[in-house]
Amino acid sequence: MPDQPDLHVSTHPAVLHKLALLRDESTDPKKFRELVREISWLVGYEALADAKLEDIEVRTPLEMTEGHQLADRIGLVPILRAGLGMVDAFHELFPTAQVWHLGLFRDERTLRPVEYYNKLPDRTTVDLSLILDPMLATGGSATAAIEVLKDWGASRIKLVNLIAAPEGVKAVSDAHPDVPIYTASLDRSLNDVGYIQPGLGDAGDRQFGTGSP
Ligand code: URA
Repeated sequence: MPDQPDLHVSTHPAVLHKLALLRDESTDPKKFRELVREISWLVGYEALADAKLEDIEVRTPLEMTEGHQLADRIGLVPILRAGLGMVDAFHELFPTAQVWHLGLFRDERTLRPVEYYNKLPDRTTVDLSLILDPMLATGGSATAAIEVLKDWGASRIKLVNLIAAPEGVKAVSDAHPDVPIYTASLDRSLNDVGYIQPGLGDAGDRQFGTGSP
């Protein structure tokens, strides 16, 4: 097992500026969704920097030249429901990406993930799988999602978050040291009910306006 987790925390000023707005408790759901999309775009840009390309020929109005096209079949795996808000940004980056939804909820008593939606076909149909979940808290859902994808035959898997807790990073990288983690922020810790501190609260409720008034 490597000494250090394969963790990539964004340091880009645009990400840091948008993160403060995302965390702000006065940010309303519409603005929150916009920020999730914008930050996902920026983190996704970093996470996909090593996607495989193949050479192609392109005719410009002046002459033939060489160009490139994506060779990797990319699979986006948003963890329902909070991961849904990250999909559009990744589709803008890679419009041909397949989307395979995975429904995992956290049992609030045990903090363990429970799978309730999975329509993956028998065999893998992608070369590179990106698990999308804004929050990496205990790492339970992420670890479960990685196991589902590995059972499916996925070989190259990346985990993309917006905010990660050290506990979640450790859990994922201990169980799956081959899976790199990309995040906009590495926060301080989890509180005693599994929320990330300072965090942003419940990423699903804040996107979909379902928090308590
Ligand atoms: N899920 C969230 O939405 N927020 C947290 O802080 C932890 C898990």
